Amino acid sequence: MADRSIFEEHVAGWLTSAGDALVSVFFPAGCRLCERVLLHASAVPICQECLGSFPVLGGPGCEKCGQPLATRSLGGAEAAGSAEALLCPECQAHAYGFDRVRSYALYKGAIVRAIMLLKFERVAPLGRWFAQRLVEVAGREELTADIVVPVPLHRDRRRERGYNQAELVAKPLARKLGLPYRAVLLTRTKPRPDKHILSLEERWESVRGAFATRPASKVDNLRVLLVDDVMTTGATLDACAKALRGAGAKSVIGLTVARAARHPR
Ligand SMILES: [Zn+2]
Ligand SMILES: [Zn+2]
Repeated sequence: MADRSIFEEHVAGWLTSAGDALVSVFFPAGCRLCERVLLHASAVPICQECLGSFPVLGGPGCEKCGQPLATRSLGGAEAAGSAEALLCPECQAHAYGFDRVRSYALYKGAIVRAIMLLKFERVAPLGRWFAQRLVEVAGREELTADIVVPVPLHRDRRRERGYNQAELVAKPLARKLGLPYRAVLLTRTKPRPDKHILSLEERWESVRGAFATRPASKVDNLRVLLVDDVMTTGATLDACAKALRGAGAKSVIGLTVARAARHPR
């Protein structure tokens, strides 16, 4: 009889946890950004209003880095029938390692907290949702590539966090685009300083030579799609792109979920 009661306890325990699972399916927790009740069945824990509030890019922008440009400056060149590339002041003044960078949205408002969920809470469904947005950006911008590479974390940081947030987006993106995913191709050899606030100069200095391609990796003549969560100054993408180009990559296009409004150097 004792065995049976243990069995009953076991079943009762199973039913309780199954019940909890059902409750969480039908009555999920609120939106992780605004706490509104989630009305749509989705694995993404963010409500439609918050997702719809992200400051999506897509208007006229710098042809190189994608920075939004005033329509006034674009209008002038178009009116003149100029075939000259429309570049923001930073891209006119400096030679970046990447060919182009495009982003889904500006890094402000609700998307900042959404990216925090990705970065610190490993919300994988959100990574897949962002990947789908980047598929749309890649289609619209006619971005072509042979392989997808995430911006790597230094191994100490990766060990500490357990994952790389760029991979949560890059991996589903590669699958959706039908491209090979090469997470191990690039490596970060110099850790990011612990200091959270870096001046622009310090940011550039901290990533100079901080990335390398692995000795056996083959990038010769390949077009690389380099994926990260946020482009702040462009220094990280620039350093990664230079390492890839140094290893023979034919082109490097950066694709990020969000970007700072400006990236002054
Ligand atoms: Zn919300
Ligand atoms: Zn630019």
